[in-house]
Amino acid sequence: MIRPDSRIAAALLRIDPDAIIANYRSIAERVAPARVAAVVKADAYGLGAARVAGALAEAGCRAFFVAHLFEAVALKEVLPHDAALYVLNGLQPGSEPDCAVLGIVPVLNALDQVDRWAAHARALGRDLPAVLQVDSGMARLGLSAADVAALCNSPEHLAGIRLTLLMSHLACADDPHAGANAAQLGVFDGLAARFPGVPRALSNSGGAFLDRPFHFDWVRAGIALYGGAPEGRAPSPMRPVLSLLARIIQVRDLPAGTGVGYGHSFTAERPTRIATIGVGYADGWLRALSNRGSAFIGGRRVPIAGRISMDSMTLDATGVPETLLTPGSLVELIGPHQSLDDVAADAGTIAYEILTQLSARYAREYGALLP
Ligand SMILES: *Cc1c(COP(=O)(O)O)cnc(C)c1O
Repeated sequence: MIRPDSRIAAALLRIDPDAIIANYRSIAERVAPARVAAVVKADAYGLGAARVAGALAEAGCRAFFVAHLFEAVALKEVLPHDAALYVLNGLQPGSEPDCAVLGIVPVLNALDQVDRWAAHARALGRDLPAVLQVDSGMARLGLSAADVAALCNSPEHLAGIRLTLLMSHLACADDPHAGANAAQLGVFDGLAARFPGVPRALSNSGGAFLDRPFHFDWVRAGIALYGGAPEGRAPSPMRPVLSLLARIIQVRDLPAGTGVGYGHSFTAERPTRIATIGVGYADGWLRALSNRGSAFIGGRRVPIAGRISMDSMTLDATGVPETLLTPGSLVELIGPHQSLDDVAADAGTIAYEILTQLSARYAREYGALLP
């Protein structure tokens, strides 16, 4: 991917691999003796899967989950040989040979996937590893209780398959008070009892913050590695891992009564100074943040004034010292004054969506965040 040079880019995204490692270690401590697998799907939630997974592998992580086979293929060459790569979205028809040859482990989510993987193992004349996902109450992916019964009543389905993990996924892990958590735990316990000796995993980041019975042998952590609040509410207990700074591209002084931006959804009520930055909804700064979100200049809050355009947005910088408003000077979009979760809350969404929409047009740097 071609990215702009950081000297001229409209915005600078800085990602701190050491902070991601610190978050990995803190989750690992919390759930020990359960172990932590890193969820690096969607390019590690937009932060760069190769860099993130590589850093975590150096820190000792040996299990990685992605959503698609191609994401696993891309990571295969950057990870150590003893690292396991799992494909959450399952074994797609036709992908059996690639999975087997590359040693990528499919998460088998349905009986037809079990049958195809077993048939492929027989064709190769060797056992193939697999994760089996059961649906404990999310109704998205995984074998139903009836599927599990069918599987266990005819164990030949699994001939040739070596189950390395039994997993399920929580629908409401970000809400510790949700009754669904205990219900899913009960269902998972019951289904898992049919597979004695197979390691188990139920929890994502939110589940890591639930009680010990939710942790089993492995926890699959995504958002908490990336600094998001596992319980969905700011402030996050995790260390921030990114900052996003945009450059001012133009400043204008408006008399009271001037309409700003598309639809004139903002009208200056007093003489107003508007700073325009070159980040818009095409960069993942969601249009829902129009007239709702903020940025910070010199530690001072500057509200987004008017609608966010595709490639730019306008900030009400009235009262900000002139010296901070020259073309090229920096505006904080994510940083010490405004967290990822703050932005998500303003946009009426979750940190996951803000992260995974971060623009390819930002210049990216990996290293410690500046204070
Ligand atoms: C995405 C995903 C995770 C990671 O969830 P976080 O909330 O980001 O920790 C874990 N398990 C499954 C099945 C997932 O799809």
